[in-house]
Amino acid sequence: MEFDLTHAHHQVRENARIFATDHILPSASHNDQAEIFPHQILDTLGPTGMMTPTLPREIGGLGTDFIGEALIFEEIGKACSSVRTILSVHNSLCALTILQWGTDHQKERYLPALAGGKILGCFALTEFTAGSHATQQNLLAKRSVDHWILSGQKAWVSSGSEANLCLLFAQTDPQKGYRGITAFLIPTDTPGFHAVKVSGKTGLRAAHTAHLTLEDVEVSDEQLLGDIGEGFKIAMSALDNGRFGVAAGCLGQAQACLEASIAYARDRQSFGKPLAGHQLVQGMLADMAVQTETSRLLVYQAAHLKNKGVPNTYQTSMAKLHATETAVTVARLAVQLHGAAGYTNEYPVERHLRDALATTIYEGTSQIQKLIIGRHLTGQSAFA
Ligand SMILES: Cc1cc2nc3c(=O)[nH]c(=O)nc-3n(C[C@H](O)[C@H](O)[C@H](O)COP(=O)(O)OP(=O)(O)OC[C@H]3O[C@@H](n4cnc5c(N)ncnc54)[C@H](O)[C@@H]3O)c2cc1C
Repeated sequence: MEFDLTHAHHQVRENARIFATDHILPSASHNDQAEIFPHQILDTLGPTGMMTPTLPREIGGLGTDFIGEALIFEEIGKACSSVRTILSVHNSLCALTILQWGTDHQKERYLPALAGGKILGCFALTEFTAGSHATQQNLLAKRSVDHWILSGQKAWVSSGSEANLCLLFAQTDPQKGYRGITAFLIPTDTPGFHAVKVSGKTGLRAAHTAHLTLEDVEVSDEQLLGDIGEGFKIAMSALDNGRFGVAAGCLGQAQACLEASIAYARDRQSFGKPLAGHQLVQGMLADMAVQTETSRLLVYQAAHLKNKGVPNTYQTSMAKLHATETAVTVARLAVQLHGAAGYTNEYPVERHLRDALATTIYEGTSQIQKLIIGRHLTGQSAFA
């Protein structure tokens, strides 16, 4: 594995850093407090190609590789995890899944629009009774002559109330269990598709989350993504990409908290010297740095495998588990290191802590990542 970034990667990171500093960071705290979905930022981001970093330039992507994607998501996560969450869902769960499983017609219809930010994508797998137990899908898709009729609910869908296109999983044959799950591409303005925003989240408050209700939503065969019964496989392939983006974004959050803490520790005086001169404070900073750098190595390892196109579920789950838990730990230490000031929104570290708490839950909780890792190590599934 090559540790040095190429010139092109440095350029990608620099551009992402400039964008995040100029366009994302200035409104991150306000958008968090007022629960404002950052449409304006996305409108500016679309033409840069950074909304879909690995999609080819010809269709509006940036044409970089997964290291490049990690660098972009790291920089954006450093500024605002809400914006990074929206991008993870849009790019990693929606656009890349269409790229992998879509027909030529679906790719032509949706990918340029997703890449340019002209439409926003979301991903609806979770239900109120199917979270970690994602195979237990209850939203039904019934066959009716030459189309499908979908009825039921989806829960906790990121961007669900803002997106234009929903990649949604439904049960088409309950007798077959998870082999009866099928994926559908549904424009959110389809009659019978309703989204209600969830209020009062602890963090990621600018990345709106919604519960969906589908009331006799009619969809055609052309809206199937992949084959009938292939939905669960498609969802898991999407999550391999999604978890990678989450891990990269959390790496950015940890890095932001570390940098903020170093600056504060140098500046703040206590017992006649800077905080940075106290051994226990240096201990906190060292723990933060080691955890952050370990996450970085795991994220880059997963990126390396993705670039080679080889299976990477095990490594991606390790990166997701480590980076999300690290973001929580490092943000928690950062608040501690800032003392009372860290417990207010005067500094970004409390926002990072609140935002990071969601990342160990969505796209497979930390416990589920451990079961995926354990299955790889032992050959035994603990899910059954
Ligand atoms: C901010 C946010 C955004 C989200 N965005 C999306 C989205 O865009 N699309 C989408 O489909 N979903 C989304 N989700 C839903 C998310 O993926 C689920 O919340 C997650 O999969 C966990 O499901 P659950 O909440 O039902 O918890 P449960 O499955 O009820 O789990 C509760 C606890 O039990 C543990 N647990 C459950 N089963 C096991 C087991 N077998 N072994 C050990 N421990 C277990 C879990 O780890 C967890 O700690 C989002 C959630 C949040 C909070």
